[in-house]
Amino acid sequence: MEKQKKPELLAPAGDMEKLKYALHYGADAVYCAGKKFGMRSNAGNFSMKELKEAADYAHSLGKRIYVTANIAAENEDMDELEDYLKALDRIGIDHLIAADPGIVYMIREVLPDMKISISTQANTKNYQSVRFWKKAGASRVVLARELGIDAVRRIIEENPDVEIEMFVHGAMCISHSGRCLLSNYMTGRDANKGDCAQPCRWKYKLVEEKRPDQAFPIEEDEHGTYIFNSKDLCLIEKIPELMDAGVSSFKIEGRMKSIYYVASVIHAYRQAIDMAAEGRLTEGAAAFLKRELEKVSHRDYTTAFYDRKSGAQDQNYGSSSYIRTCDYAGLVLDYDKKKELALIEQRNKIHSGDYLEVLRAGEEGFMKIPAAEIFDENFQPIEETPHAKMKYYLKCPEVRPMDILRKPEEG
Ligand code: SF4
Repeated sequence: MEKQKKPELLAPAGDMEKLKYALHYGADAVYCAGKKFGMRSNAGNFSMKELKEAADYAHSLGKRIYVTANIAAENEDMDELEDYLKALDRIGIDHLIAADPGIVYMIREVLPDMKISISTQANTKNYQSVRFWKKAGASRVVLARELGIDAVRRIIEENPDVEIEMFVHGAMCISHSGRCLLSNYMTGRDANKGDCAQPCRWKYKLVEEKRPDQAFPIEEDEHGTYIFNSKDLCLIEKIPELMDAGVSSFKIEGRMKSIYYVASVIHAYRQAIDMAAEGRLTEGAAAFLKRELEKVSHRDYTTAFYDRKSGAQDQNYGSSSYIRTCDYAGLVLDYDKKKELALIEQRNKIHSGDYLEVLRAGEEGFMKIPAAEIFDENFQPIEETPHAKMKYYLKCPEVRPMDILRKPEEG
């Protein structure tokens, strides 16, 4: 079968360590935020010095780095923007991601050669809007999540000269393209300035005005209800169809997630894209990769608007808690071949006798290794590992630095 041109896999990078793991596990590009003008004010976010280091690092691997400036900007924001944009240009950022027409206009004025991606916050849902953004100077548009495959196809057909980027995986807002006042109204924290307190994930009860102390449950179980709580998007089984439609970039949500989450999700989508390009992403292979995605912390998955109208089936009324089928056990820091000893940084406890799964960048699937002998940092044998982030040694078959260890729940 003829090989298909591969779209970009675009990963979230909440900090420098996550950026390194995302690129190591197969992302072609990463997006991150500086200290200002981004939509995740609680993510680690990068200082200008860190952004320079991140850009140099990505470029040294032949990969790209994009920076968000996608808040709904106010006058005061605009006053500070010009210097910020020029500083980003000096450090060699590949794309700026913006939604506000004022910010797009200023980027075009100040940095005529800078590539602009129009953020999903701009809520682009039709081919004319894409034309509009192209005329305004954008080279890429991130579509709204509220679109089905037919609409995506049409938009691409009508705009062959604009790159189209789509979210394929991660958390979703119940509000249209994240334009939401819930957090601002309830907590004073503005979602449109990157400071959402996520009240859509809280549980709610019904209160009658004259009986403020009496809360009535409004759903079937004793925990109340999560009426605003969206499931997580997962389009891994749709990758071949999306590639066929001509999507240029597949974007993964999650700048606040762990290294384990980012590496695992990127690893799965890397395999899906590579296999689809070679005509090897069979139903069975896609189902395997979907099971891989079940191993990281997530809410129930949905394909949302992909081939139907979204509805009650895309909400999770029972709980907003995360589920997963594996624990993140630790990161491999080093391996001594002679002694067959791996140096591990712990994330979750393991016990001697456990079986662990090893995730390795560039290799399909995973390996299984026994955790037969565990030693503390002084090489004293121990039955279980110490507390989080402590280092320990594991006698095991060869592993490599940046391999990730996970422990199946039943393991
Ligand atoms: S409250 Fe929920 S729906 Fe609203 S912006 Fe925050 S995450 Fe999105």
